[in-house]
Amino acid sequence: MRKKTALIHGHHHDDAMGSISPPIYQSSSFTHIGNDSAFRYSRGGNPTRQNLEELIAHLEGGQRGFAFATGMAAITTVLMMLKSGDELVICADLYGGTFRVIEQVLSQMNVAIRFVDASDSAAVKAAVTQRTKMLYIETPSNPLLKVTDIAAMAEIAKAHDIPLVADNTFATPYWQNPLAHGADIVIHSATKYLGGHSDLMAGLVVTRDDIYGKRIKRLQNTIGAILGPQDSFLLIRGMRTLGLRMEAIEANTRVLAEWLKDHPAVKKMYYPGFADAASKAVHDKQSDGYGGVITIELESQQKAEEFARRCRYFVLADSLGAVESMINISAQMSHGSFPVKERLALGISDSLVRLSVGIEDVEDLKEDLAQALA
Ligand SMILES: *Cc1c(COP(=O)(O)O)cnc(C)c1O
Repeated sequence: MRKKTALIHGHHHDDAMGSISPPIYQSSSFTHIGNDSAFRYSRGGNPTRQNLEELIAHLEGGQRGFAFATGMAAITTVLMMLKSGDELVICADLYGGTFRVIEQVLSQMNVAIRFVDASDSAAVKAAVTQRTKMLYIETPSNPLLKVTDIAAMAEIAKAHDIPLVADNTFATPYWQNPLAHGADIVIHSATKYLGGHSDLMAGLVVTRDDIYGKRIKRLQNTIGAILGPQDSFLLIRGMRTLGLRMEAIEANTRVLAEWLKDHPAVKKMYYPGFADAASKAVHDKQSDGYGGVITIELESQQKAEEFARRCRYFVLADSLGAVESMINISAQMSHGSFPVKERLALGISDSLVRLSVGIEDVEDLKEDLAQALA
């Protein structure tokens, strides 16, 4: 089954009534009498959520899928595989919320944290020690769209017998399957492209094998940050058009990237399609698309703020990956929780603007950017 077909047929439908659309089992509990299904209590399992969990497992090519209340709930649950005394090696160019949970929660649990530039495989190899119990990456990263070689990371993780965890939010399973390149666990903020319509929050996890699957299952049921049946239904509904949306977003983004690259107001541009040759080769090896995010650097913070304020179709918002185009001033918004010194060292300057391209008519988007940059 190819991806566009899997998005429609990659999960079970209701056999009892023959409904085409997955039913919403709005029930906390299932009776034990005369019920030989696996369902007992919805924290441990719910048929609507299971539909979604099977769908994402299928799309990522993994054994087990898990749905959570938000991307952060998914990430936090996975990080709970770590225990006191362990060390986490994690990419420095990281989603702001993940940085916060590491700095404020994980550090309280006596887990040592080592930030590395994961686009530099040699640096990662040098950073991993006997104490390291997890390697965590994002590719392309947020907001600088740095590319990390998943297979090279998997080799390092395997040599130390530790899981490689990949946040695949930016690429989506439509363009990139980290498990196929050796990752053990994939995470999504389904709030972004998978949901795609700015109407729900959700997080997803997929494990390559059943051993990690059992561990995540136990943590999911124990911690309880699960996705409810209504939102599970809504996410399945959103995901049905993921293929169409990603194709449209890809085409729009290429046009805008091509146009922005030569614009005099743009000092610097980040887009995987125009990355340096080495990064592009790595990205092309592991991914079938460049995605919908372009990050640009303007002349000053003031110019960035003016630009964001003047856009009409690019809505000023913290999120990305929706049908509507969005604009974000990284330093103040998505990366506001980073200490200034570390943020600037990463290259996330005050004049950096992240664009998330939607599915509007690309000519309107171009005109919008042109008038706002003028
Ligand atoms: C948004 C995002 C998250 C967090 O997901 P929420 O659904 O907002 O909790 C994690 N990783 C990346 C890359 C994101 O963009």
